[in-house]
Amino acid sequence: MDKNIRELLIGFSHGVCHKFIDPFSVENINNLKNSKINAIEIHLHSYKDLSKLKIINESIKDFKYKSIHLPCDLKYEDDDLNHNFLKKIQDYYISINANLIVVHPDIVLDFSIFDKYNLMIKAVENMDNKKSSFKYLEDFKMFFETYKNWNLVLDLNHSYSNDPSMDSAKAFISIFPDKIKQFHISGFEYLHEPLFKTKQLEIINCAKIIDKPIIIESEFEASDSTDAVLKEFNFILNNLR
Ligand SMILES: [Zn+2]
Repeated sequence: MDKNIRELLIGFSHGVCHKFIDPFSVENINNLKNSKINAIEIHLHSYKDLSKLKIINESIKDFKYKSIHLPCDLKYEDDDLNHNFLKKIQDYYISINANLIVVHPDIVLDFSIFDKYNLMIKAVENMDNKKSSFKYLEDFKMFFETYKNWNLVLDLNHSYSNDPSMDSAKAFISIFPDKIKQFHISGFEYLHEPLFKTKQLEIINCAKIIDKPIIIESEFEASDSTDAVLKEFNFILNNLR
């Protein structure tokens, strides 16, 4: 990596190639490592994925930055299922020396259940145009007034889906420069298309405004190979310079 951007922490969500390779395989992590990434986000698609984490434990050790994306098949309420899960997540967080957990706020029924697990840096994520809440600046101004110990992962793809001018994303960045702990980045046509295909430089440009770890969430097609992963990484990196 270039000297002038050596502090940049950037990598992939580990599930971006799920259409052609098992995310919970050493081969998948090694493929992602071909791009010289120094960061990774472990994306739990389901709470049942917990048992698969040990398969990739060794191969993710050397990343400088590690975040954990919590699954969307829980309702995050005060019951045994959730507490058993969060206890295991906190143990895992400590064991891999993770930097942050991120959860979709629209599925959390009770934010206070996370208070017991105070050894983790906790973040919510802004939602896309298909969701009915947690999309706009005003939603988060209200949220952070109550939940002061929570942080934000600013998903620039989701921001774009709500406001393609990126004025909304820029407003988030100027209002919450310290709350934002990480960016999610990918192209937006319908979901999470690779930026080397969509060429939406306005999305990448927002990640230059403040220096935060960047996790790429562009989803690759079954017909794609690891070449596409490398292409995506280089496209984003070159445009971050
Ligand atoms: Zn997410």
